[in-house]
This record gives sequence, structure tokens and C-alpha cells, in this order.
Amino acid sequence: MLHLDVMDGHFVPNITFGPCVIGNIRPCTDQVFDTHLMIESPRKYIRDFVDGGSDHITVHTESHDGIEDIKRTLEMIRDAGAKTGASINPATPWKPMAGIMEDLDLVLVMTVVPGFGGQGFMHEVVPKIREIRGYIDEHGYATEISVDGGISPETAPMVVEAGADILVAGSAIFKGDPGNNLKLLREACMR
Ligand code: ZN
Repeated sequence: MLHLDVMDGHFVPNITFGPCVIGNIRPCTDQVFDTHLMIESPRKYIRDFVDGGSDHITVHTESHDGIEDIKRTLEMIRDAGAKTGASINPATPWKPMAGIMEDLDLVLVMTVVPGFGGQGFMHEVVPKIREIRGYIDEHGYATEISVDGGISPETAPMVVEAGADILVAGSAIFKGDPGNNLKLLREACMR
């Protein structure tokens, strides 16, 4: 999958790109577009991102006013024809999300404070990944756990061991030779 980090300069201090750029890269690849919206008021833009070619839309729990508000957004994502994701920052507890876990295709656990690439992995988040894995397995949900931030050949194995299904890597792949970096990352996870 191609993980697309959308930042609006409000929810996070940085600004990246929007649905127009995603629409322009859509014809270049058949890869699944996994769009991570680090933006305020995400409901306003869901239609635009799906029309731009996003297959998965992940929103932040922190850009919502409680679980009912997130549920509305997830419903809108599903109605627009995309898969649903909810992301949690390192400081945000996951337990309030237990009630919506069943409605999620993806839970995106942040292992850095979102906003900038190239940050160091926060080891203290690993137990949270393990707890969510346990909860999903216990209930037999199909929800996948994705982990985003500071993923490298050093940190990837512990995230996989804790129960992650999907690893999001930026700098670890694109700094240097992407093909070789991806191979190193895959090998690290197989160990
Ligand atoms: Zn991301």
C-alpha cells in the first residue's frame, strides 16, 4: 500500500498535500492508497479524498468530539465506498475506542507525535499495540492494526511481535535506495 500523510497546518503544524495531488498520482500505480488524514473537520473532505482515489481513509480520534462523532465519520467513509480507519496518538488511550473496534477496518497506532517525518520511535507505545491485538483477537474482529512512526529494521520486529499487521515506513524506505531498504525491512520482520 501507499500510505499518504495528509496534514493541514491546523491539526498538525505541517502542511503536505490534498485530494488534488492524490488524484494526480492515482493513474501512476495500482497500489492501494491508504490515506491518513491529520486534519481538522475530516468529514468535510471525505468525498474529495475518495473521489481522488483513496481506498482507505483513516481519521484521528483526536480531531473528533467523542465516540459518537467518530462513528458518524466512519459511516460517511463507508458510504463513500472506502475502508475505515481510526488513528490514535501516543498520548491517547485506546480503551474508549473498544466500542467502535468492530466498525474499523484499520486501527492506526501512532508511535510518534504526528506532524513531521523522520522522528524517533516511541517504545512506550508497544504495550498499547499488544493490548489492542489482544482485544481484537478476543472478540474475533477482522480489524487490522497498522503502526505509523519511527519504523525501521530495528523497531519493526518488536512492533510485529506485539501484533501489528501493517507497518508504515517513510524515511526507512525513501532515504537511500528504496528497493534495498524495503528488502532490509522485510528481512528484519522475518527474523
Ligand atoms: Zn501516517
